[in-house]
Amino acid sequence: AADDLVRAVDRLLRHADGRRRLGVHANADTPADAERARRFGAGGVGLCRTEHMFLGERRKLVERLVLAEGASEQEAVLEELLVLQRDDFAGIFRAMDGLPVTVRLIDPPLHEFLPDLTELSVRVAVGQATGSPDADAESLLPAVQRIHESNPMLGLRGVRLGILIPGLFAMQTRAIAEAAAIVTAEGWTVRPEIMVPLVAGDVELRLVRQEIERVLAEVADRTGAHVPIRIGVMIEVPRAALGAERIARSADFFSFGTNDLTQLTWAFSRDDVEASIFPRYLDAGIFAVSPFESLDVEGVGRLVRIAVAEGRSGNPDLVIGVCGEHGGDPASIAFFAAAGLDYVSCSPFRIPIARLEAGRASVGATASESDTR
Ligand code: PEP
Ligand code: MG
Repeated sequence: AADDLVRAVDRLLRHADGRRRLGVHANADTPADAERARRFGAGGVGLCRTEHMFLGERRKLVERLVLAEGASEQEAVLEELLVLQRDDFAGIFRAMDGLPVTVRLIDPPLHEFLPDLTELSVRVAVGQATGSPDADAESLLPAVQRIHESNPMLGLRGVRLGILIPGLFAMQTRAIAEAAAIVTAEGWTVRPEIMVPLVAGDVELRLVRQEIERVLAEVADRTGAHVPIRIGVMIEVPRAALGAERIARSADFFSFGTNDLTQLTWAFSRDDVEASIFPRYLDAGIFAVSPFESLDVEGVGRLVRIAVAEGRSGNPDLVIGVCGEHGGDPASIAFFAAAGLDYVSCSPFRIPIARLEAGRASVGATASESDTR
């Protein structure tokens, strides 16, 4: 009976696949996740969050890079990171043979990688008070103080890091292009894309795009491998949605980051509200459902519609997707289909429901189109 059920579900999903216009991709950061996504029927990786590759032991490398005193220390760390990243990307490219993989350049709020300022200050103070100074803490403290931010989510993240830490985006781009060359030589078909996070305006994107293209050309010359790599941008800052026409002129694709877009449109901290405000807002009837769970059509949804129209006017070939959590929410998927997106990207486990919903959205759209005829 279980086998029958699996077969019936599979038939249903294939039926939906045959009808849907919306692509369904997965958010995946490891080869294992990518393979799982593929088994669930993902048409590609729509978001590979590269900052997840720097947690654990590698965290120290980011710390060293950010706090490096001179260019030679910075270059040494970037060389180490390049080797690690090349392997990271090669594994995902092999797992997604033949399908697109959108690699998002690093976007950590920096505090996740740096020593905690309060803890460091306490270590220094205790060391001095007890007469046994903590030399490590003392040497780190000035740099950590310099870089400390009260609102890291509104600070040194995404494209800002790429612009302000020389060589960081270039290292990741090189790792992507070299991994693509290696994996192509092994006989796989690689379709990488590079995505720039937290862009607010076209000037930032143009600056970064120039650097990415320079590195891609350099790797292609050196390796002789000419793997086409499209360059796109996350639309996750309200200003980017409003200035989408100009941004689209320098972008091959857009991907809505509805997590940040919701946070920034509502001025709700995505890390805190679920505990601090939403329970009471839901009780008071201000929300029927959290806007982080189901797309707020009047606010965030309006920005999405504006950005789709402006983006397509700036670049008629623009491909548009969404990779925030809403990409796997059935009600939001219907909205994205109606708004004219090309794909949604969600966690691997949500792929089947997203395929089904995307199929239903297309059938619904066809039915209502013929109703109005
Ligand atoms: C988003 O902001 O919606 C997004 C996909 O990026 P992240 O969740 O990593 O900020
Ligand atoms: Mg984001």
